[in-house]
Amino acid sequence: MGMMRQYELVDRVRSYNPNTDEDLLNRAYVYAMRAHGTQKRASGDPFFAHPLEVAAILTDLKLDDATIVAAVLHDTVEDTAATLEEIETMFGPDIRRLVDGLTKIKKLDLVSKKAAQGENFRKLLLAIVDDIRVLLVKLADRLHNMRTLHFVPPEKRLRIAEETIEIYAPLAGRMGMQELREELEELSFRHIKPEAHATVTKRLEEVTEREGKVIGEIEDDLKDKLAASGIQAEVFGRRKRPYSIWKKMERKSVSFEQLSDIFGFRVIVEKPEDCYRVLGIVHMTWPMVPGRYKDYISTPKQNDYRSIHTTVVGPGHSRVELQIRTDNMDRIAEYGIAAHAHYKDGRAGEPISLADESRAYQWLRRTVDLLAEGDSPEEFLEHTKLELFHDQVFCFTPKGRLIALPRGATPIDFAYAVHTDVGNSAVGAKINGRIAPLLTELQNGDEVEITRADGQAPPAAWESLVVTGKARAAIRRATRVAVRRQYAGLGRQILERAFSRAERAFSDEKLKAALKRLARNTVDDVLAAVGRGEMYSGDVVKAVYPDLEPEKRGSADGKPGAAVSGKGWFELRQGENLKFKLPGEAPDNAIPIRGLGGDLPVRFAPHGGAVPGDRIVGILTPGEGVTIYPIQSPALAAFDNEPDRWLDVRWDLDDKAPQRFPARIALKSINEPGSLAQITTTIAEHDGNIDSVAMNRPNQDFTDVTIDLTVWDLKHLSAIISELREKRVISRVERVVG
Ligand code: MN
Repeated sequence: MGMMRQYELVDRVRSYNPNTDEDLLNRAYVYAMRAHGTQKRASGDPFFAHPLEVAAILTDLKLDDATIVAAVLHDTVEDTAATLEEIETMFGPDIRRLVDGLTKIKKLDLVSKKAAQGENFRKLLLAIVDDIRVLLVKLADRLHNMRTLHFVPPEKRLRIAEETIEIYAPLAGRMGMQELREELEELSFRHIKPEAHATVTKRLEEVTEREGKVIGEIEDDLKDKLAASGIQAEVFGRRKRPYSIWKKMERKSVSFEQLSDIFGFRVIVEKPEDCYRVLGIVHMTWPMVPGRYKDYISTPKQNDYRSIHTTVVGPGHSRVELQIRTDNMDRIAEYGIAAHAHYKDGRAGEPISLADESRAYQWLRRTVDLLAEGDSPEEFLEHTKLELFHDQVFCFTPKGRLIALPRGATPIDFAYAVHTDVGNSAVGAKINGRIAPLLTELQNGDEVEITRADGQAPPAAWESLVVTGKARAAIRRATRVAVRRQYAGLGRQILERAFSRAERAFSDEKLKAALKRLARNTVDDVLAAVGRGEMYSGDVVKAVYPDLEPEKRGSADGKPGAAVSGKGWFELRQGENLKFKLPGEAPDNAIPIRGLGGDLPVRFAPHGGAVPGDRIVGILTPGEGVTIYPIQSPALAAFDNEPDRWLDVRWDLDDKAPQRFPARIALKSINEPGSLAQITTTIAEHDGNIDSVAMNRPNQDFTDVTIDLTVWDLKHLSAIISELREKRVISRVERVVG
């Protein structure tokens, strides 16, 4: 392939933009050619061929002069002696900005370690949000690099292909550029899964040979029928690409043989109403496949895609997919946001305002707004990646406002999409007029009404149940606030007791006066720190009343600490430990584990046990038997170098004879009369059996409690832990695996 000549580039641009600034294009061509000089690409071609090819791809999208010039210049600043100042002098500030953006994102590694990857993705989005043309050049750059990837050393190929399929292809799709997305996916697929790619391609060719005739028949039939009804239409038959077939095979876990809709037709008409006429004719000619009809004309996708989709059963029982749309819809479907970025009326260099035109751009803006909401970069990347890949569902508010959400979204996501306050105060939902659980998966067309109650905080558990980044970020924020409030409340109780013990008055004003001494900014900070156990109540009393006799830590009332009395552990002195076992029957059931031969004695990990729902392993001790550990148990590290002792075991539960399993939890509770009673009652009320309790009082504010109990399974254990977490007297609860 010869390098594009200077006049060829100009001709290409002039073909769609008669008012192009030829002088500008020529100057860019010469400047970049000189700058790159004798540099070579991995293929051995002169390097300059690359920016020219990138510019050529963008002329296919009919982009404005500034974009084409930026493409020609895109690698000069990074790779040659050229400078941004020079580019501004020669080509103006608009082009300088584009080249600057491209230079900035050039070095971003988007498949590196998670934190850096998130941060880089953030930078990428920030660079493209101000001017979408930066992304258009970047995508064309990546497309050309992917087309020539086989020249790159093998160890680099995979990384580039992964970055392409994970970030750039979905981004192109989200911007509505389907052709570009498909080609990027296809080229990546070839390098990431070469065997799968080869297999699918081969099978595709076999099927085409076998069924190609049927396709021709359908095409002719369709053209005749449309002509007979007086509809002007073009009909294109097309075969699906290997990657989209592979994805479908993976998603639905079906074999190639079971995939029937490998062929598709695109029917292009002039007017939107013709789309529906074509649909009528198609459905009257062949039976439609239920559930496959989609009308993206009345509810367009979030990336502005509009089309009618349907699948019919054609001759020979082959399933055939049809996409019906107008010329204009087709252009948007292929070029997406680039169709909006077209040069207009010869006013080259005019800033492009997309905000009103493109919903894809609005998505980008919203995503970038999320950046400001303080997610950590890796969380942000996870959210955005999820949203990039998700299909959409479209729902409505009772007033008819359209809310587009990723597939799998719930009324909670819906509520947060409407407004953060609506999400935070949501307590129930009505879907299409009926009361429905907040965790219902929403369907296209659902009308959703959110029931709200003031003074609510969203449960922390919601965070893992929602699918939109906005909801997740808002829930995390609200939970953080709620947790802090809880700690502050705890801290206040501890301090009130400590001050009354010292027979001194306590008030927020007095505390405020001592803030400097406590090295805290607000009263709330002090309360939360005490509640968390980061600051001792005695130190706060001392800071407020510096002349006070120092309190003898640990002996709260001056009396010698008695062990368990009527008041419970409250009499424990600092540093004292107490342990007691509750009388109970020892379970005599056999431990239900599969994967063990013979009659080996089996027991659970002595410090923390294991419950169904845990992934487990067995450790063999010759002469003694097998010990079952949850896979996350730190004790397993001791056996790392003895692979022979590891046994692959599984639970073997009998639904008809449920049994209990041992687990351990650790709590931190404030020292308040009745604390222990609250804990044990909570566990009992939720059907947990306590075997033993051990307590230790590290200081006068808190007691550490370790409880061995038996539960039915992991879900049961988690439920007990979250109930305990709600208790005011408890500052921390967690499961212990020994
Ligand atoms: Mn490049």
